[in-house]
Amino acid sequence: MHQRLHPRESADDCEAPLAAGAASKRKVQGSDEAEGTGILGRVVARFGQRFTVALDAVASAAAEAAEVDAIARGRRLQVVVGDRVRCSQEHGSHVIESVVPRRNLLFRADANRTKPLAANVDQIAIVFAAQPPPQPEFAWRAMLAASAAEISAVAILNKTDLESSAALAALDELARLGARVLRLSARTDPAGAAAQLALVCRGRVTLFVGQSGMGKSTLLNLLIDARLRTGALSRRGTHGRQTTTVTRWFAYGSDGAVIDSPGFHEFGLSHLSAADLARSMPEFAAVSPSCRFTNCRHAEEPGCQVRAAVARGDIGLARYEFYRKVLALDNNSGGAHPRR
Ligand code: GDP
Ligand code: ZN
Repeated sequence: MHQRLHPRESADDCEAPLAAGAASKRKVQGSDEAEGTGILGRVVARFGQRFTVALDAVASAAAEAAEVDAIARGRRLQVVVGDRVRCSQEHGSHVIESVVPRRNLLFRADANRTKPLAANVDQIAIVFAAQPPPQPEFAWRAMLAASAAEISAVAILNKTDLESSAALAALDELARLGARVLRLSARTDPAGAAAQLALVCRGRVTLFVGQSGMGKSTLLNLLIDARLRTGALSRRGTHGRQTTTVTRWFAYGSDGAVIDSPGFHEFGLSHLSAADLARSMPEFAAVSPSCRFTNCRHAEEPGCQVRAAVARGDIGLARYEFYRKVLALDNNSGGAHPRR
């Protein structure tokens, strides 16, 4: 099936308005925080269809937020770690009745599906190191997810006590792509690492991601009490089984939070369109407005300025191939014609 191309001069401009974030694509459930009844709280963990909700401390009650187990009212109510929710109490147990509209929603990729990962995030911290050898695509995916959700990214190079020249070059590239950068060694300078992390995380909601072995747990243990972390990441399920949560929200200071995502491999990006992608990759965004067609997917369209920039070497071939891969331009079975 051929896509109709829209020349830039055409009045028939089909370009979608810039999405306010990934969340804008999904139906937002619930009401504003000021409205509605029930006890407000924050979803801090998810175990399948069961959730842990940190109820807001009521003025007169203890300063510590009480954590309760809760289920969602109906399977259609999508509840994600980081959500602000309203709960009711039924026969002594808590039920999540509604979700306060989210500021944003990040997705993770799970086999062929994209699933919600966390909501209401201010920034993504990408942890990597020279060892084990990092895959640049991991950081690029995380950067794309951040950019598409209109949140900032922090690239953290850990293990600077190891020989890191290639990793430092990768860090520079992430800085050019818009990330704030940190260089740390959790092993040889834990106090310095803790201080730098605290500066970045204070007063904000930070989602930590990284390929395994990079030292994410070691760094998080500098921020949050290690025993608290280990205890919170697994708990007894309904039948006494140990269940492990994929994602856990930890309050950090009075108005910040750190979200840990163990066993997390890839960011789901399949909900993003070609236009979202090109907008979220700065070197693409710089030239794509000059493409001949407003709805150019930068594939085989004539007059494509992205491909021209690749040919000139202004856009790295690896980045262009990454773009095609995320859009699945090369691996569909559409026959002779690439999907456009
Ligand atoms: P995670 O899988 O990303 O959570 O990684 P871990 O925190 O479990 O760390 C993986 C390995 O890297 C462990 O053996 C850590 O001791 C080691 N590690 C963590 N930080 C550093 C560091 O700054 N330098 C060095 N050389 N090793 C580190
Ligand atoms: Zn183009």
